[in-house]
Amino acid sequence: MSLETKFICAAASAIYAGIISNESDIESLDRAIGDGDHFINIKRGAEAIESISDEIKLLAPDEALNKIGMKLLSSVGGASGPLFASFFIGMSKVAKLNGANTSLDIAAAFAAGVQEMIKRGKGQQGEKTMLDVLIPVAHTFIFSAIEDKNIEEICTVIKKEADKGLESTRNLIATKGRAAGLGERSIGHLDPGAKSCQVMVNEVCNLLLKSNK
Ligand code: ADP
Ligand code: MG
Repeated sequence: MSLETKFICAAASAIYAGIISNESDIESLDRAIGDGDHFINIKRGAEAIESISDEIKLLAPDEALNKIGMKLLSSVGGASGPLFASFFIGMSKVAKLNGANTSLDIAAAFAAGVQEMIKRGKGQQGEKTMLDVLIPVAHTFIFSAIEDKNIEEICTVIKKEADKGLESTRNLIATKGRAAGLGERSIGHLDPGAKSCQVMVNEVCNLLLKSNK
């Protein structure tokens, strides 16, 4: 498995479509425990990436990831804009350093993206955020790549982990972001950022599974 710019562009389009088709879920979750703008923020990011897709197509994979990060930084507000920007910039750095020519390289780059996001938001797992999806997904990705699992096996376990991570946010008390202000009242709701990340992970995995057939 090697990461190609063509795949990055296709993944961005798949994510865009996935976000649009989950509009009502994502929006109602942020209305329940946030300020209702998470869907709009994510959609704006997806559109910003789409708007530079002709430029991105010409770049090497690590440059494409960096360009996406920079674009998100300049075009998406809220907590999630800079966090997603950090993810892509972190992923780009390690893809540049290591290459992205094996599933383990790609898993390492993904984990570096998550690490950059952790640093940016001073977050950790268990705070009812998108990290409750992304951290376990990064671990599972690394472990299954180390075990030399094939793409189908990797995608299957990653999708399960993303679903589990999302569900884990339901009974957590939010301690980061806007939802933290709600304290115990945040219990019972899924986190909107975790939902959008679960959608993104699923879209990318489904695309990989389809292109692997
Ligand atoms: P805002 O909270 O500024 O309105 P969004 O609505 O776009 O921004 O994003 C909210 C999501 O961002 C939350 O659901 C949560 O998953 C995520 N989030 C907020 N703060 C952090 C943080 N410090 N680390 C990781 N994720 C965070
Ligand atoms: Mg919000």
